[in-house]
Amino acid sequence: MKTLIKNVKTTKHLLGQTGDDFVSVELLVEDKLIKSISESSIKVEVDQTIDGNGYFISPGLCDPQVHFREPGLEYKEDIESGSKAAVKGGFTTVISMPNTVPTADNADVVSMMWEKSQSVGICRVYPTGAVTMGLVGNDLPNYSAMKEAGAIAFTDDGKGVQKEAVFKAAMIEAQKLNMPVLDHSEDESLSLGGSIHQGEISNKYDVKGINSDSEAAHVERGCRLSGETGCHYHVLHVSTKKSIDFVKAAKANGYKVTVEVSPHHLLLCDEDIPEKEDGSLDANWKMNPPLRSKEDRAACISALLDGTIDAIATDHAPHAPDEKSMHIEAAPFGIIGLETAFPLVYTNFVKSQKMSLNKCIDLMSKQAGGLFGLEMGRLTEGSVADIVLFDMDNEFEVTDNYFASKSKNSPFTGDKLFGLTKLTLFEGKIVYNGMNV
Ligand SMILES: [Zn+2]
Repeated sequence: MKTLIKNVKTTKHLLGQTGDDFVSVELLVEDKLIKSISESSIKVEVDQTIDGNGYFISPGLCDPQVHFREPGLEYKEDIESGSKAAVKGGFTTVISMPNTVPTADNADVVSMMWEKSQSVGICRVYPTGAVTMGLVGNDLPNYSAMKEAGAIAFTDDGKGVQKEAVFKAAMIEAQKLNMPVLDHSEDESLSLGGSIHQGEISNKYDVKGINSDSEAAHVERGCRLSGETGCHYHVLHVSTKKSIDFVKAAKANGYKVTVEVSPHHLLLCDEDIPEKEDGSLDANWKMNPPLRSKEDRAACISALLDGTIDAIATDHAPHAPDEKSMHIEAAPFGIIGLETAFPLVYTNFVKSQKMSLNKCIDLMSKQAGGLFGLEMGRLTEGSVADIVLFDMDNEFEVTDNYFASKSKNSPFTGDKLFGLTKLTLFEGKIVYNGMNV
């Protein structure tokens, strides 16, 4: 199967050259690979020609943190609906968290997740294995068996590992297998079962607050243990200035420490959480870590712009509407993010000229994959044809109907954004078609 994509533009940087300039290209996809790319027209017999309408052609995006809820919680999302949400947002690779039911703390669950994602076959859904059995923080599972079954990293995401000795033992074992440990950094002796950031807003609404130091305490610990063990320590969804300072210091020391940030922590703070009609706070704005203070948000933005942040992750966490319509203290943590991530970052940082398009795509593709040793993020001859076409020029509105996810728990519904996905190709095959080709 040969497909020719005409009338698209990209940057020299994304072609593996130097420069921010846009160039018009034609691209020939043969089977699973990019066969050739040219700034002049490619004359060859093909099975299908796609007119790209002048759209921006990008390497497929990679999300280091999603929750696809299968097995066990398929009413919120499953691997198929999650994959559909991913490709609708321009993602062709995602890393799935192990807080399923049962927990992915053994080779059987990990391999079931990997096999299911391959049978769905519209994007790469890499499973992770739990750091501790049942995510309860005591015993280590069989890491090598989970790696063998397809796990790409270890994490107890959703919960912090409370005992330092357990976390250190986990890092020593992960290091032996050359696998990263992804940390949901939360010291529960400081977060104390809170629902939103501890501050003026939590006081005003009399909602139990989560202290900022609960995150920083674990980030400090992980950075220090990375120095001691040599293990790759990755901070999931960073949200506070103090945590970022610990990461900066660890990087300056040459430790193998990386960090991601989520669009909501770059764009929202606790003061933005809207009131519902009954005067209580809207749980569609509840996630863990919570929306922090204005100062923390500003620190996340400067870390993004100064290069401290290695990748952007959605922490896509679907929940049913009846769960999210509960009182904010009773509702579960988490918001969906796959379908809004690129448009949010593009509209708020690239279009407003705070960050280059190249940097944005690198944070969401090459550098995100690089966390796991995955090579991606360039449109070069011979690379896998994971490709997205984005419309950069026409505004669209995020509505409930926009989402391919089973869930709709997003604080960004109603936003008007640029960067709508028009077409996604996974391994050379069209997996999302928003332009009737
Ligand atoms: Zn988490």
